[in-house]
Amino acid sequence: MIDILPIRTQRTNASRLAELDFDTLEFGKAFSDHMFAVDYRDGEWQEAQIVPYGDMAVSPANSALHYGQAIFEGMKAYHQTDGGVALFRPLDNWARLNSSAERMCMPTIPEELFMQGLRELIRLDSAWVPTSAGSSLYIRPFMFATDGFIGVRPSDSYRLVIFTCPVGLYYSKPLRVRFEQKYVRSAEGGAGYAKNAGNYGAAMYPTKLAQQEGYNQLIWTDASEHQYVEESGTMNAIFVIDGRVVTPALSTSILDGVTRRSVLQLARDMGLVVEERKVSSREIIQALEAGKLEEAFGTGTAATIAPIATIGYEGHDYDLPIVGPQAFSKRVSAALDAIRSGAGADVHHWMVPV
Ligand SMILES: *Cc1c(COP(=O)(O)O)cnc(C)c1O
Repeated sequence: MIDILPIRTQRTNASRLAELDFDTLEFGKAFSDHMFAVDYRDGEWQEAQIVPYGDMAVSPANSALHYGQAIFEGMKAYHQTDGGVALFRPLDNWARLNSSAERMCMPTIPEELFMQGLRELIRLDSAWVPTSAGSSLYIRPFMFATDGFIGVRPSDSYRLVIFTCPVGLYYSKPLRVRFEQKYVRSAEGGAGYAKNAGNYGAAMYPTKLAQQEGYNQLIWTDASEHQYVEESGTMNAIFVIDGRVVTPALSTSILDGVTRRSVLQLARDMGLVVEERKVSSREIIQALEAGKLEEAFGTGTAATIAPIATIGYEGHDYDLPIVGPQAFSKRVSAALDAIRSGAGADVHHWMVPV
């Protein structure tokens, strides 16, 4: 693809790269030298810029701060075995950012603006892309309202920003989770399918309560009956029951994860049966008791695959079997790693070089 938009670039004259220790990266704490920013005003996107990463001045009256008119994405770029850098399914994130934008009455972003901004930003900060196995450059695009006006109505002006964070191999200790049967993350007809800021703030309190009880995370259930599985924290939930890959069907209350979509595609490629349907907490516990629940895990960009070891249900903790090296979650995780590093064949054309 040819870059066509003029992106005004102001390089930092004080790179922080030398201070970075690639061996002790903590998720979300180190930020690369530059960020991409573009404002939307008077009905159109203005000149895009790449500037040194740093604080931004905003109106204290902006409706992102007061009413949550703010959305985000999470995606990754990977160092390739041939030396380059490639993005994993960036157009999926672009499309989802736009569907979140529509839900929150925010302007959509042209593909060229998003993709060219990403490419130029990552090329400029390519020395920040970690190279060791399992590490990556986490990318955080986000958009928020910027009008200085406290009336409750969609803002007329917005800012889209993209910054990046080098992240190490994500090791997730097998999780202790419990079904949530009181609080809800989102309801059918709500905004659960969008990555809008408010969904996450509202989930913190119920998650904190579960953590005080010794769990790492919740499995959200549906808002009307608290029977059907929705997601696990900020990951989609996937189960292997009796050899079949089972996951809740998408709805307006579930986030359509790119990792979920990729894992299901690879499962089908491996010849496994994939069922996207309603899954009740009772079905999971019954399968567990009958020895038919083989695996349960969360999927998301940050962790890729986070295995679940224990599920709490109605006051009891149920342990899952220990998974062996031939488990689906291990095989699919290895297949995804191979595609993302360039070591494996990318038959679905998921990787986009920067
Ligand atoms: C981002 C997110 C996911 C995972 O989506 P990926 O595209 O796989 O990273 C799942 N659930 C929620 C609520 C999320 O915000």
